[in-house]
Formats: sequence, structure tokens, C-alpha cells
Amino acid sequence: MGFCLFNSVAIAAAHARAVHGLKRVAVMDFDVHHGNGTQAMFWDEPDLMYASTHQMPLYPGTGSREERGAHGTIINAPLHGGADGETFRAEMTEIILPALDGFAPELLIISAGFDAHVDDPLAGLCFVEEDYAWVTRELVALADRHAGGRVVSSLEGGYDLDALAASAAAHVRVLMDAPAG
Ligand SMILES: [Zn+2]
Repeated sequence: MGFCLFNSVAIAAAHARAVHGLKRVAVMDFDVHHGNGTQAMFWDEPDLMYASTHQMPLYPGTGSREERGAHGTIINAPLHGGADGETFRAEMTEIILPALDGFAPELLIISAGFDAHVDDPLAGLCFVEEDYAWVTRELVALADRHAGGRVVSSLEGGYDLDALAASAAAHVRVLMDAPAG
């Protein structure tokens, strides 16, 4: 739901399963807003994982740690306003990356919103470009471990255009440097 008419990443996950024969697909969402639509669509699916860091409280209001899905494949790591990249990296390292490793997706899709950047006007998290480069390296390594290197990244939020450009460039630079799976 969020700001979107169509949920591109959930459609991509369904397409990967229906057309390309994959079974387990994971979505990692570091947009500052919780992906309530993806969570709802994945809720009853044991072979779809949705993992999210997001500011809470913030629109759309969902994304507490207790929201785990019918099969425990929903992983929410809410962050308080003002949280910086150090907190983000700790949540990724302690909660989300181990869950993704345990799930062992055959495809990793990134909901790559950059509105958790410190300069973004819509929210109050304090990520910087190097945080996005760091998480991209971690996600590429995870995809190398489980998914033959298959990563699809979909641009989502980002409302300070300079911060969006610099963050997206940092993200794509790591994706381009990744060895082919
Ligand atoms: Zn957003």
C-alpha cells in the first residue's frame, strides 16, 4: 500500500515463483516507511520472507516486532526517530541478516528506499551514503551464499533529491562491483 498503486516487489516475487520456478523469495526493505502492503501479501506464505527496517512510529503505522506472519517469515526491526546508521547496522547484523540466512532465499529483492537518509524531509532517521553501501555489500554477500548471486533492487522512497542521488549511486556502485553469481 504505502504511496503506491502497484506493489512492484511483491509482483516480482510472485512472477519469479510462477514463471521462473523459484520457491523461496525474500524481500529486504530499508525504506523508512514500513512496507505494509508487502507484509500483507506475504503474511500467509511460508516461502516468502519480508524483512524491514523502518522508522516507528511513522506512516503507515504498522511494522512492530510482534508482527511475524502466519509462519514466522515476517521480520520487523523498527527504529526510533533519530536512529543513525550504527543502530541500523546493529539491527541488520543481529536480527535481519541471521533471519535471511536461515530462510536461504533463492532470490533476494531489495525495496531500496533512501528516505531514511539524514537529509530526507519526510522522516527522522539519520542514515548516510556509506550505510547504504554497507547494507548493499551485506545483501550481495547473502545472495551469493544462498541465491547464486541473484539480487533485484527496486527504487522506492527518497525525497531529498541530492541525498537520493548520492545514496542510489552508492547502492548501485556496490551492485555493479559484485562478481557475477
Ligand atoms: Zn518511504
